[in-house]
Amino acid sequence: MSTFTHEFNTPAYKGKSSFNTGLYINGKFVEGSDKTYIDVINPATGKPITKVSEATPKDVDIAVDAAHKAFRTSWGLNAPGSTRARLLSKLAQLMEENQQELAALEALDNGKTFSWAMSVDTAFAIETIRYYAGWADKILGQVQETDERKLTYTRHEPIGVVGQIIPWNFPLLMMAWKIGPALATGNCIIMKPSEFTPLTAIRMCELIHRAGFPPGSFNLLTGYGHTVGSAMSNHMKIEKIAFTGSTLVGRKVMEAAAKSNLKDVTLELGGKSPNIIFNDADVDQAVNWAAHGIYWNHGQCCCAGSRIFVQSGIYDEFLAKFTEKTKAVKVGDPFAPDSYQGPQVSQIQYDRIMDYIKSGKEQGATVHLGGQRHGLEGYFIQPTIFTNTKPDMKIVQEEIFGPVGVVIKFEDEEDVIQQANDTMYGLAAAVFSQNINRALNTAHRLQAGTAWVNCYNMLHANVPFGGFKQSGIGRELGDYALKNYTAVKAVHVNLGHTM
Ligand code: NAD
Repeated sequence: MSTFTHEFNTPAYKGKSSFNTGLYINGKFVEGSDKTYIDVINPATGKPITKVSEATPKDVDIAVDAAHKAFRTSWGLNAPGSTRARLLSKLAQLMEENQQELAALEALDNGKTFSWAMSVDTAFAIETIRYYAGWADKILGQVQETDERKLTYTRHEPIGVVGQIIPWNFPLLMMAWKIGPALATGNCIIMKPSEFTPLTAIRMCELIHRAGFPPGSFNLLTGYGHTVGSAMSNHMKIEKIAFTGSTLVGRKVMEAAAKSNLKDVTLELGGKSPNIIFNDADVDQAVNWAAHGIYWNHGQCCCAGSRIFVQSGIYDEFLAKFTEKTKAVKVGDPFAPDSYQGPQVSQIQYDRIMDYIKSGKEQGATVHLGGQRHGLEGYFIQPTIFTNTKPDMKIVQEEIFGPVGVVIKFEDEEDVIQQANDTMYGLAAAVFSQNINRALNTAHRLQAGTAWVNCYNMLHANVPFGGFKQSGIGRELGDYALKNYTAVKAVHVNLGHTM
């Protein structure tokens, strides 16, 4: 089995990382059944970093059996809430002790900057695990009022063996959002990280092991979507799939669930979120938040504020200031302390974004700024602003998932709400106005699972996140996520009725 060893000797972080890169099944690192491997590429250089074991559908069966065994014996209903709370707290502590290494791995593998990986990805992942540790012994049913000679109550039981499939844009954070509520409620997990960014998930297995989670309660399969992800979605002994990724693949997961064992499905999918800036906004603040909304994490955010609607009275001022702000976005080495934006995650994503830029030009939009490769190696793209767009252009309708925003002029409230809602997505939205009535009335009328007022990208472990329309089904985070991982049982106890 291969191991990965890397010396980080960067301005931002110095340290060594060394771990096994096998699959984690039943509490052990093992080879994939076919003994094949996946190359992991550094997006800043385009060169390989290491290789990790490739799981196969056969490995899915092995992991599912281990998970079912754990569910019947050491986990599930056999692990009291206090135990689950203690182990999750321990995991959060171990993540904190290894936070710098996790952040460095995330920067190396995904291309996000080390400083953002420290301040957001790892910090929020730790917060999430700690938050769900707090819930683990508070998963309560209710006593139901029926009649005097009956005791009736509900139990919120774990679903059983659940599959979790996650994307590459926030590898560690998406893992934390998924495992936190699933383990707090006593489910056993088969997780598949993205084939592009498996390193932090593998590193986490060692921490999960050290925290003391019993063998089989958590299993990690590094593999491809069309093989392992598909085998999980079709599996007859996986009772739920929680999926985060594209709307296209989410549809396939739901189809497979319907055609196999009608497993429960929650989906966190794509977005094309509107960011609406009214004449009475604080323009400088709106510029700062709008830039953060579209350029942060290189635009690879499901909730990226990619459609920036600006009211005509401040359009010219906003565009001038937004252009200056965009020019100041420092693109470069993820480990340089002053970098804000690193490379896109892969050659595929790089090509996809450049194709969108090409289509924007071909359909007659104006590249106001950027639109080119940055540097000579790796997958860096200049932060890009399009203007003079039309509502039916691909760059206005489709998720680009890169540092590419469209700035659209609007006249009045009715018109902008109609345009903002004119998409198949409904993940997030933002409104900038100093008039509280206008801001809140607009926020309430937008079809989105999250509405920000005078800010962008603000998320918390205790606040639900998820989509309207084709952006998803179900909610992550907060106590809402616990519902996704529990099955409700009603128990009727006869205290004296006779037949
Ligand atoms: P993707 O849909 O290509 O892949 C997501 C995961 O699904 C990966 O692990 C992949 O291997 C797996 N997969 C691929 N084909 C599969 C199949 N046939 N069956 C089962 N699994 C399969 O998405 P991506 O490119 O990794 O991530 C980007 C997308 O994720 C964007 O659309 C983004 O908006 C979305 N996203 C949404 C949220 C949210 O919370 N709503 C968060 C992050 C990312």
